[in-house]
Amino acid sequence: MKVLYVDQTGQLGGGELSLLDVIKNSTEDSEIALFSDGPFRQALEAIPVPVHLLSLGRVSEIRREARLLSVLRGGPALLKLRSQLAQLAARFDVLYANSQKAFLVSALARRRDQILVWHLRDMLTADHFSPFLRRVAVFAGNLSATAVIANSEATRESFIQAGGNPTKAVVVYNGIDPAPFDGVQESEVEAVRKALGLQDKYVVGCFGRITSWKAQHVVIESLMALPDTHAIIVGEALFGETAYSEKLQALVHSLGIQDRVHFLGFRRDIPLLMKLADVVIHSSTAPEPFGRVLVEAMLAGTPVIATRAGGALEIIGDGETGLLVTPGSVQELSAAVTKLKNDPEFACRLALAGRQRATAVFSVNAMIESIHSVLSTAHA
Ligand code: UDP
Repeated sequence: MKVLYVDQTGQLGGGELSLLDVIKNSTEDSEIALFSDGPFRQALEAIPVPVHLLSLGRVSEIRREARLLSVLRGGPALLKLRSQLAQLAARFDVLYANSQKAFLVSALARRRDQILVWHLRDMLTADHFSPFLRRVAVFAGNLSATAVIANSEATRESFIQAGGNPTKAVVVYNGIDPAPFDGVQESEVEAVRKALGLQDKYVVGCFGRITSWKAQHVVIESLMALPDTHAIIVGEALFGETAYSEKLQALVHSLGIQDRVHFLGFRRDIPLLMKLADVVIHSSTAPEPFGRVLVEAMLAGTPVIATRAGGALEIIGDGETGLLVTPGSVQELSAAVTKLKNDPEFACRLALAGRQRATAVFSVNAMIESIHSVLSTAHA
């Protein structure tokens, strides 16, 4: 089966990191079309997989909160992109769209006899998309997608709630390879702790894109009730959300805790940094579609605290494999950190159970088998 993957971004977001694992481990004959360049292209070429860069033009101006007018403005560029993709896609059996914009363009470009898979990695809710874009996406999904692969029950449910056909939607969780976590040496962790001036400090880690709904500000604010605790904030504003990033810096200054908050930017040594942290906090105030960082923290053997919503509820059992707190509650978050800090045995039990669950449920093999089965059924 010849599969053309399609993704709108060249940045390394969670969806792109997951697609790298899919492509690396898949036995299908694969190539990929990207609508913009970036480090994702280099990572794909290193696999290696052929990458085709298409020009997004003014389609880039159609944002998640878009209404009809901005879509019409982007119309000519959209048609151009559609014909570039249709031309490229002609020799493939399957178009596999990895993002919403990629799916919409693929739905327009696809031949009638071609399989179209939409890997839905976003919540189709008001927190994330305008009503207009949700209607368009679900209409196109019902009409054109052969199958919709949702990355959690939460995203599948959001598709159905938005009017999506339930019979098309299956859940396939992200699978994450434990090997990079197992390969980290204690001496490497100690060296980075020392370089950051964190020896003998209690460290909370916050990993992910810097964006207002991931709510890194809640973690920063929680430090006011956690004296002697340091935070490493790992990630970058990948999709132009630099205003929020600046707000976080200003918040740290206004609270006078510059010495306890370490902004590390975008990093590729996530397993090491997760092992360095005493606790990993996931503070999203809007429901997370899946939450790769939660599974990664579990694989690192570090206890996790997450907000009680979205994909986190499918990954973490409260008090068993992590702790759940109310989204946006600074007070609950600092209380949860205090509990883990004061009870290392309990923290260790959570981490051990978390690691077991992560390896049992979120394996790369299970993900690849499920995707392969969706493609084979569609191809039959
Ligand atoms: N990540 C990374 N470097 C960073 C911050 C995050 O490689 O500096 C990775 C992180 O390890 C995870 C992904 O980005 O694999 C984020 O995925 P998640 O599902 O948590 O969130 P998304 O970005 O998809 O909303």
